[in-house]
Amino acid sequence: MSKFLLSNTVTAIQPSGIRKFFDLASSMDNVISLGVGEPDFVTPWNVREASIYSLETGHTAYTSNAGLLELREEVSRYLNRKFQVTYHEEEIIITVGASQGIDIALRTILNPGDEVIVIDPCFVAYAPLVSLAGGIPVHFSTSGKDEFKLNIEALANTITSKTKAILLCNPNNPTGTLLEKELLEQLADLVKKHNLLVISDEIYAELVYDEEYTSFANIEGMRDHTILISGFSKTFAMTGWRLGIVAAPTEIISHMLKVHQYAIMCAPTMSQHAAVEALRNGEADVQAMRRSYMQRRNFLVKSFQEIGLPCHMPGGAFYVFPSIENTGLTSEEFAQELLIKERVAVVPGNVFGECGEGYIRCSYATSLEKLIEASKRIQRFIQTIPVVEPV
Ligand code: PMP
Repeated sequence: MSKFLLSNTVTAIQPSGIRKFFDLASSMDNVISLGVGEPDFVTPWNVREASIYSLETGHTAYTSNAGLLELREEVSRYLNRKFQVTYHEEEIIITVGASQGIDIALRTILNPGDEVIVIDPCFVAYAPLVSLAGGIPVHFSTSGKDEFKLNIEALANTITSKTKAILLCNPNNPTGTLLEKELLEQLADLVKKHNLLVISDEIYAELVYDEEYTSFANIEGMRDHTILISGFSKTFAMTGWRLGIVAAPTEIISHMLKVHQYAIMCAPTMSQHAAVEALRNGEADVQAMRRSYMQRRNFLVKSFQEIGLPCHMPGGAFYVFPSIENTGLTSEEFAQELLIKERVAVVPGNVFGECGEGYIRCSYATSLEKLIEASKRIQRFIQTIPVVEPV
């Protein structure tokens, strides 16, 4: 097909670097995957049952564009209960995953050429979504030396007169790094000074293990500067239901609703009925899953440290991000050779931005038995590389 028939923006975007490995891994037998970013748990039964019941009772039509009122009321209570933020149901939209929430946020706020700062290493969708919305993604690197925390002074130097927003992911995918309240307060000062918006992707906020979680919207003065993104995929093991949450002040959300309304109409009705049940009665399951993730995280971090791959203890999400620098391999070489020789799939850090080079992302959203076997295989693989000295 003639290139002229396609959008320049779309043709310039590269497909996700993660895919390549999964295509290779899925063509092989006996692979243990630490690659996927989704829970290995099945959605709790009562949640599935609520959806089945909604179908049995004939709830098969569209909901209101913003989502079922009953669900938005539950979301309003949930956000308040969990993160002490106050959003009226009119300030909430139920989206098709957090993914669509980020998309409509960007499409609502950007004019052509506006810059959005993405903090690398980050979720692979951020920069392409900024480009698709007509903006310019500006990459800001964090460093493994300080556990990929934000350096606010350096970030300040990235801001220009064209900067419209910062895309924040806390806790972070792929590093698992959790930003504490003091750092968020420093970021808030910057946001206030330059009158910016923060699209705060808090999809992993319930998967935080050692500390209290602070929502960016909860930082003093930040409610009016925040588009809060949350969802059901990770917390409630509901990736396939395609359901997310966006909360923002009326002046923003009312415009986001237009984008949502014309592009999507509404999120899937049967999923929304399931979500009501998840929010009302899901706490015990969330706690059990969190306990299990924490146990797996502790095992995996310890085992990487023993193997000789330095690895910080991530405060949240379900990823560890060990350094593979001392193997002398690039992250792509490491991932490819590990997959071929030992049949363990991990994601090379460079797909999450340049500063992810020298690291691999390993998801612990897989059973402890598999993690134990994977770490044995990784150790065997590492032993074939002479330069590594165990710590
Ligand atoms: N944000 C981050 C940081 C993610 O890791 C993911 C999923 N991998 C998403 C958003 C998308 O989640 P959803 O399934 O709700 O679209």
